[in-house]
Amino acid sequence: MKNFLPSDFLVHIGPECILCGRCVRECSFGVLEQKEGRIIAHHARCVACQRCVVFCPRSAIAILPHPSTSRHNAYWTPEQRRALLRQAQTGAILLAGAGNDQPYLSIWDHLLLDASQVTNPPIDPLREPMELVTFIGRKPDHLEIVPDENGELRLATELPPQLKLDTPIIFGAMSLGAVNLRVHKILAEAARRAGTYFNCGEGGLHEELYPYGQNTIVQVASGRFGVHQRYLDAAAAIEIKIGQGAKPGIGGHLAGEKVTEEIARTRMIPPGTDAISPAPHHDIYSIEDLAQLIYALKEATNYSKPVGVKIAAVHHVAAIATGAARAGADFLTIDGFRGGTGAAPLVIRNHVGLPLEIALAAVDDRLREEGIRHQVSIIASGGIRSSADVIKAIALGADAVSICTAALIALGCTLCQACYTGRCAWGLTTQDPELIKRLDIDEGVERVQNLLRAWTLEIKEVMGALGINAIESLRGNRERLRSIGLDVHTQEVLGVRPAGM
Ligand code: SF4
Ligand code: SF4
Repeated sequence: MKNFLPSDFLVHIGPECILCGRCVRECSFGVLEQKEGRIIAHHARCVACQRCVVFCPRSAIAILPHPSTSRHNAYWTPEQRRALLRQAQTGAILLAGAGNDQPYLSIWDHLLLDASQVTNPPIDPLREPMELVTFIGRKPDHLEIVPDENGELRLATELPPQLKLDTPIIFGAMSLGAVNLRVHKILAEAARRAGTYFNCGEGGLHEELYPYGQNTIVQVASGRFGVHQRYLDAAAAIEIKIGQGAKPGIGGHLAGEKVTEEIARTRMIPPGTDAISPAPHHDIYSIEDLAQLIYALKEATNYSKPVGVKIAAVHHVAAIATGAARAGADFLTIDGFRGGTGAAPLVIRNHVGLPLEIALAAVDDRLREEGIRHQVSIIASGGIRSSADVIKAIALGADAVSICTAALIALGCTLCQACYTGRCAWGLTTQDPELIKRLDIDEGVERVQNLLRAWTLEIKEVMGALGINAIESLRGNRERLRSIGLDVHTQEVLGVRPAGM
């Protein structure tokens, strides 16, 4: 069948080229070829991963939008027509990696933070301590403080298990299989150094990462991959994955060719077989069923660690969240529709779910209305891009946030969306041993650690401007937010007043 698909990109090789061949070696999609004394580009294969551009010693390469165009049509956009042609050619569901890239409103960018002036003056974070320590887990209904035999007051209430975060940022769930072991090693080490946690995702925890257990949140998902007693015991917390923001309502599929010996051993499945995560947990069809699994995991780990639930942001997210809280979840991860994925059907990724901002505000409100907000911590995830997003998420009601795509970008990801091909040129979402070598663990740890450090410093700066010295004072404090350019209904859901009021 003749390929009717026009190329997305044009790879331009400039006259500065010295024919060193580096770009040919770096391209993992077979775009570039050295032939007859020149570099030839197969433009149609280019995904704009930018690897050749970064590594060309002469900066001779530019990847451009393909200049060939057809008649403008605002309704039948080039993306619509392209998707249609791909389906006419393959008859298959279209897949994409990374997260929802559609031009829906980014509410973060319509929220502005307050600052203190004159009274309640700002605080200089360089001179005064700023408290960012955050505890994730169920808080008691009340605290009992009693005098000991010396008359000193002491806390008599036994606190439920908590995660202690030195900065309110966690590395979110990316499974071994979706990413490779080097990515996990980088995130685990960076989490340990920063006094926070990494979530190993639903593909189990590799043997080499057990020493990082106390900085690890392990997942129990519908496929139950890699779940066993030692796995649960090793972790600092357990997260039951019900849904994922990038693909709510559907399961996952790790193709057999990505199931290497290492991944197979960790997931406890035969090498080379497809790893299918069913859409539902086959033992959960009600909140009562969820409560049973939470109870079983707490029993299995002797009530020694928080057990949370991750849900995708969907229409009735607030009701689902309170149900999960009442089912005994110690924390809730709310995953918005901008969350990343290794592979998702394009139609789901682009059209299902809710913005994290809306879901977060709705969940925080509902938990407060029902008087159970203290019983459960909220982790906001799905498209957190900057320290500003972190601060706004906390002001909307989160205790902490988790980041995935931001961490991958720090490691080189250029959001080319080709993760599902397994050919990630940056060595992240690939199991190809040669491509994996591109990811240097020590350098990766440094990059991710730098990112966390920079965001943490910025959070302190903003807290100083807000005149607060403890991040706790900001949690759910929507009075410190104003909206700009949002409609009245969205403002109501967010519980944020318009700028000027
Ligand atoms: S890496 Fe740059 S200089 Fe080397 S062959 Fe490719 S375009 Fe030419
Ligand atoms: S992880 Fe790799 S393949 Fe996926 S979007 Fe980023 S650069 Fe592209």
